[in-house]
Amino acid sequence: MKAISKAWIIEIDITNACLYNCTHCTRAVGHFNRPYFADLKFVEKALKSLEGWKGNVGCIGGEPTLHPQFSEICELYRKYIPRKKCGLFTCGGPKYEKYGDIIYKTFGIINYNEHKKPSFHQPMMVASQEVITDKELRDELIDNCWLQQTWSAAITIKGCFFCEVAATFDLLFDGPGGYPVEPGWWKRSVEQFNDQKERYCKLCSIPIPIQSLPDNADYELVSKENAEKLKNSPLNAAGKLHIIDYIFTREGLENIKKSELYKDPKKYHDSEDKTRWFISPLNNKHTWKNIYSILSAIAGHKLKMKILNRIRRDNA
Ligand code: SF4
Ligand code: SF4
Repeated sequence: MKAISKAWIIEIDITNACLYNCTHCTRAVGHFNRPYFADLKFVEKALKSLEGWKGNVGCIGGEPTLHPQFSEICELYRKYIPRKKCGLFTCGGPKYEKYGDIIYKTFGIINYNEHKKPSFHQPMMVASQEVITDKELRDELIDNCWLQQTWSAAITIKGCFFCEVAATFDLLFDGPGGYPVEPGWWKRSVEQFNDQKERYCKLCSIPIPIQSLPDNADYELVSKENAEKLKNSPLNAAGKLHIIDYIFTREGLENIKKSELYKDPKKYHDSEDKTRWFISPLNNKHTWKNIYSILSAIAGHKLKMKILNRIRRDNA
C-alpha cells in the first residue's frame, strides 16, 4: 500500500447523481436508490483539510455538475486550491455546457469522458474473501492493489478514506465512516488506515486480475455474499447482477497474467488509464472537445496518449 501523502490526487466526492448508470462504476452509482448531494459546509471543510497537500484535488461524482450548488462549489475550489491543481471528472451533458465558463475558470485538469464509446471498468464487487480462499495470496494481492497505488484517496460525506473504492463500499454498505475531515488527515501513515483496509479490501475485486468490462455491459459481476448485500440495489432489481461462483488459485492467476490479453492495458486494468488526465490547454471548451474527439477518431490509444501528454507538458 502507498502512503496517501505520496498519492498524486485526492478526490472529493460531491454527489453520486449521474447521467448514466454504468455497470462496474467505482462509485457504484447503479446500486444506490437515492442520490446524495454534499453540502457546502462539507465541501469547504474537505478543501480546508487539504491545506499543505502538494498533490491535485479532484471534484467527482457521479456527475459533479448535477450538484444543485455546483457553481458555489467551484467558488470554494477557487478560494482554496490553485487552478492548476483542481481536477474535474465529468461525463459532460447539459449542465457541463451550462457551467462551461465557470469550469474552465476553476479547473486546470479535466477528465472529460462523454461515454459515447464504452470505457472499461474492472469489476469491484467480487469479494476477494469469497473467491480467494488462500489468505496469503489474497493479502499479497491487496497489499499490491494497483488502484490504491495509482489512483486516489477520497473524502466523502462519510469521512476520509485511504482509497476511493473503500470509500464507496463504506457509503454503499452503511459502514462506520472514515476519519474525521480535519486538517492534515492525509499525513497519517498507511498503517493507520488498516481498519479501513481490513473492512473493505476483502469485499473488493480490484486487485484480482479479472478482465475489465465495458461500462455499458448489461450485467455486473458480483460474488454471492456481495449480491446478498446488494439485494435492494436498482441494478439487482433490473436483473443485472451476475454471480461469479469461482475460486481463483495462485496457479490460475499466474496463467491469466501470462495471457496475451492481460498484456493489453486497454482490455485489462492498468495504471496507464491515468494518462487520460490532461491539463485543459484552452479556455474554450468547444475547441478542446473538438481536439479530443478528433484525436479519438484518428489516433490509436498510444498515439492519442502521446499527443495529449505532449499538450499537457506544454501547458503545465
Ligand atoms: S458516468 Fe462515471 S460516475 Fe456515472 S455511472 Fe458511469 S462510471 Fe459511474
Ligand atoms: S478497497 Fe479495493 S481498490 Fe481499494 S485498496 Fe482495497 S482492494 Fe484496492
